[in-house]
Amino acid sequence: MQVKINNSILEIVEGDITKQDTEAIVNAANSGLRGGGGVDGAIHRAGGPQIMGECRKIGGCPTGSAVITSGGNLKARYVIHTVGPVYHGGKRGEAELLANAYRSSLKLASEKGISTIAFPSLSTGAYGYPMDEAAGIALKTVIDYLKGHPEIVLVRFVLFNADAYGAYETALR
Ligand code: ADP
Repeated sequence: MQVKINNSILEIVEGDITKQDTEAIVNAANSGLRGGGGVDGAIHRAGGPQIMGECRKIGGCPTGSAVITSGGNLKARYVIHTVGPVYHGGKRGEAELLANAYRSSLKLASEKGISTIAFPSLSTGAYGYPMDEAAGIALKTVIDYLKGHPEIVLVRFVLFNADAYGAYETALR
């Protein structure tokens, strides 16, 4: 499903983030940038050791912030690593931190002249964020950003299964 936000495209697809041909893909990283399971493991496996080498040099990334490396062997030229919050029931600022992770990633893309970017559903795996709530926050944050930033021409959410896709589809409608 696709919608237009001014002249930019916001799209949701079911698929694998590592296979995307956008200029940048976003990693659901941890604050030590040490790699892990889920999206993080998949990106480092598919992209090769160069990405981890760059992550080690950067050293870390606080929750809600974002850093950038090359894409190694991926189709995407860059990986933007951002850190979403661990969900602890929703009363510890999780919503704002999740929005910050999306905003920081988009801001970094704008600064680097990256116009097409793919996101996974941040925080909704190991970090436990409820999918329906996360979908609403993710979409609202991206839509608000696109309204003021025509330099980003495509944002694609890559959802890993039909349930995740359904949650984003409902939220987008
Ligand atoms: P977090 O630690 O931020 O929760 P995870 O990587 O554990 O990050 O999960 C985030 C979301 O990404 C989950 O909904 C998970 O199902 C999904 N996911 C896992 N692997 C991939 C992949 N290769 N491409 C896209 N999404 C993925």
